[in-house]
Amino acid sequence: MQVPNNEKKILLHSCCAPCSCAILQSMIESGLKPTVYFYNPNISPREEYEHRKQEVVRYVQKMNIPFVDADYEADRWLETTKGHEEDAERGARCTLCFEMRLGKTAAYAAENGFKVFSTSLGISRWKDLEQVSRAGRRVAFLFPGIVFWEHNWRLMGGQAQMEKITREEKFYRQNYCGCIYSLRESIKRSLSKPSMVNPLDTK
Ligand code: SF4
Repeated sequence: MQVPNNEKKILLHSCCAPCSCAILQSMIESGLKPTVYFYNPNISPREEYEHRKQEVVRYVQKMNIPFVDADYEADRWLETTKGHEEDAERGARCTLCFEMRLGKTAAYAAENGFKVFSTSLGISRWKDLEQVSRAGRRVAFLFPGIVFWEHNWRLMGGQAQMEKITREEKFYRQNYCGCIYSLRESIKRSLSKPSMVNPLDTK
């Protein structure tokens, strides 16, 4: 595991427990000191947001990992993505969404003595890893001295480990990415092809 500048202290933006668990376990086993930053104003409705957050809190408490609970700026997220309500997943709305969430993570890193930040967003096969990394690089550019750690967490058994821990911990697994528009798409998909929906397939 090659961390930029051999940093030990990492700020990890977490999107949910299933996507974060294997990354955090791997960091701890490698002698790194992660802090989890939860900033996901995209998640709707609020009950869903609280549920996903509580699952992350449950895991970090078990692993004794520091946790930063950022604001639920749902109105700001809706304003940021305005005009992109009909975009397909992996399109421009998702770029804005990633940049907003990672931008705030980078700002927190800069203000709190972290030199390296990363995100759990890229471990899901539903995401475009390059789109996530591009967003991370773009926001890091705004904060001199802060580096976005572009690591492909899917490799070296990362996805299998994520599945394993998720089963062991009985994490809640969502079947839509997070925003109200992805929820709408998920409902449409389940209505058109009910047999194709796998409730264990985390987005
Ligand atoms: S589909 Fe996911 S990544 Fe894209 S805008 Fe919605 S919540 Fe953000």
